Amino acid sequence: MNIKNNIILALDVMSEKEAIEICDSIKDYIDTIKIGYPLALAEGLEIINKLKDKFGFKVICDFKVADIDATNEKICDETFKAGADAIICHGFVGSDSVKACLDMANKHGKELFLLTEMSHPGAKMFLQKNADAIAEMGVDMGITNYVAPATRLDRLSDIRKIVGNDAYIISPGVGKQGGDAKKTLEYSNAIIVGRSIYEADNPKIACENIIKSTK
Ligand code: C5P
Repeated sequence: MNIKNNIILALDVMSEKEAIEICDSIKDYIDTIKIGYPLALAEGLEIINKLKDKFGFKVICDFKVADIDATNEKICDETFKAGADAIICHGFVGSDSVKACLDMANKHGKELFLLTEMSHPGAKMFLQKNADAIAEMGVDMGITNYVAPATRLDRLSDIRKIVGNDAYIISPGVGKQGGDAKKTLEYSNAIIVGRSIYEADNPKIACENIIKSTK
C-alpha cells in the first residue's frame, strides 16, 4: 500500500458529520484512513464508500477479525463488498482463521493486515508473549502487511526483524498513547494517528505538525 506522508488517520469519531468535517480539514495531507467499530457501528458500512467517494481515500477497516475461519470469511467478504481496501485481522486465533481472511482478501484483490501485538498496556498480559510467533506464522503464510505497536519500539524492532524489510508495517500508538512519530518510522512504514488529530482544536495543524516532526 502506498500511503501519503506515511500517516494513516484512525477515524474513531461517532458520526458521519464529524467524520466529514475532520476529513475535509486533513485531506491535503492524508490519503488513507482507518475505520474501526466506533464509526462503522455508528453509521453502518456505507460510511466506507461515502468517504471514499467524497475524498478519494483508501480505507483500512480495523475490525480486528478474530473468529473461526467460516465466520472470518463472511466478515471479510462483507467488508470488502462494502468498499474496504484492506482489513485488519488478529493473529492469535491461528492460521486457519487468518487464512480465511487472506483468501477473501485475495479473492477481492484487496489487502490483509495481520495484527501481531497491540499498542495498549493490556497487550502485555497475553498478546505480547505470543506476538513473535504470530509474526512468524504470518511470514510462513506469505502475509506481507502487519500491524505492530508504536508504543514499544523494542517490540516493533523485533517484529520488523521477523517479518523482514520487504514487509509493510503500520503502527498505532503515536501521540495520545505516547509513541513518537519519527522514531516509529525508523521501523515502520506508516504511523496510525487518531485522537491527536481528530481531538485537536485544529486537526489540519495537528496533522501538519506530526508530518513535520517525522522529517
Ligand atoms: O487515538 P489513537 O491515536 O490512540 O488511535 C489508535 C488507533 O489504532 C485506534 O483506532 C485503535 O483502536 C487502533 N489500534 C491500536 N493498537 C493496536 C491496533 C489498533 O491502538 N494494536
